[in-house]
Amino acid sequence: MSVATAADPSTWETIIGLEVHAQLNTHTKLFCGCSTSFGDPPNTHTCPVCLGLPGSLPVMNGTAFEMALKAALALNCRLAHFTKWDRKNYYYPDLPKNYQISQYDLPFATQGWLDIELDGATKRIGITRVHLEEDAGKLLHEEHAGGSGVDLNRAGTPLIEIVSEPDLRTPAEARAYMEAIAKVLEYLDVCDCNMQEGSLRCDANVSIRPREQAAFNTRREIKNMNSFRFVESAIIKEIEDQKRIYREGGTVIQSTRLFNGQTGELRTLRAKEEASDYRYFPEPDLPPVTLSEAQIARARGTITELPEARLARFIEAYQLAPKDAQTLIDYRHLGDYLDAMVQAGATPKAAANWIISDSQSVLNDRKLSIESSGVTPVQCAELLKLVDAGIINRATAKDKVFPAMLDAKGAKAAGVIVQEQGLAQVSDSGAIELAIDGVLAGEAKLVADYVNGKDAVVNALFGRCMKALKGQGNPQVIRPMLEQKLQKLRGS
Ligand SMILES: [Zn+2]
Repeated sequence: MSVATAADPSTWETIIGLEVHAQLNTHTKLFCGCSTSFGDPPNTHTCPVCLGLPGSLPVMNGTAFEMALKAALALNCRLAHFTKWDRKNYYYPDLPKNYQISQYDLPFATQGWLDIELDGATKRIGITRVHLEEDAGKLLHEEHAGGSGVDLNRAGTPLIEIVSEPDLRTPAEARAYMEAIAKVLEYLDVCDCNMQEGSLRCDANVSIRPREQAAFNTRREIKNMNSFRFVESAIIKEIEDQKRIYREGGTVIQSTRLFNGQTGELRTLRAKEEASDYRYFPEPDLPPVTLSEAQIARARGTITELPEARLARFIEAYQLAPKDAQTLIDYRHLGDYLDAMVQAGATPKAAANWIISDSQSVLNDRKLSIESSGVTPVQCAELLKLVDAGIINRATAKDKVFPAMLDAKGAKAAGVIVQEQGLAQVSDSGAIELAIDGVLAGEAKLVADYVNGKDAVVNALFGRCMKALKGQGNPQVIRPMLEQKLQKLRGS
């Protein structure tokens, strides 16, 4: 057995801090009226302000500021009563002004926190600050052989930067934190959190140190992680790289590294800039922002139910299993759908089962999601009521009625479909007895197996009966009648 020593980096502790950039989903940019819409032809959403033309003046987007306040409050931050804008100066082709309007020494929010759940344990992660800034444009390399194009549609889009304390200790914690942030922002409806399109991005600062050491070692920054999985795998790779450096007696140099999701490799880009490299100074064209208690209270009032509160409600009020409740809160629209079904009279458990399991195979086959299927929660609730009332069985609801509802894109109610297609289940005992007798007569081998003690063949025989009744037999009538007949055979 090897003994851990300070010189053995394989046992060292990892320190991770994340900087999350989230694009606010306003219709217009932070300091001009240009559209923020994604995926349009390059440079079609630009004006003198976001092109950085001389003499143009920025005007703050009030909606962006309100969204930012909401996000900071949901992240348990303290809001500043006085906040201002600063210029962060650097040259890059996607930044026509040669400076980015950001916030430096007086961000609008500080000292927040967010709880993450991992392996059944809760951990509180500190949030150092949240500030507002504008996004830069985008360089297009692939489309221009031998050169690069600049698309300034994104230039000036509002971003919030959320900086965590160096509280994260493992790549899995970093991922859980990133997912928790995304969930909060999605619930607040302030960011669509589409990492592939870049509306949610993340940089990680990573260092390692002997467990008994109090001071931090030099950190390196990883950029360009555009999925939750990549956040985790890039940090795993970075830890390996740093351990190797220390093991070989080298020193880690503060630098910025780029993650390549395809190869899983990290490449060092440049020595990391210090804040002083940016020559920050107050933005002279925008007035500072003062915030009253009334404004803060108003922002607080716009915060809707957050993931944690919804999880507790689904478990307590709806009596759902924690695992099901978790699935339903992971995607806000699924929880919204459940609430709407319950409001329309469905029982919470049946509605939850319907959303999580019964409807899924049909929706997956058609590459649809339940909220975009055209079938409303009220219509799904009506469908479940038909099952509850014994008019159709669950299999018919799932395999016949729901697909027909999807075909009609919500234009036909479940009851109408059941009537039109004659799908009401057969509960008539005469018809069912006839079907069972037919099956028993034709399945001599299975019947003999049962008589010889193989109880499990009941299920196979039940399946045959259902098939004989075209799947529309009432299981509550069929099963007891079948069992009774079989027991009689065994006894005789
Ligand atoms: Zn503009």
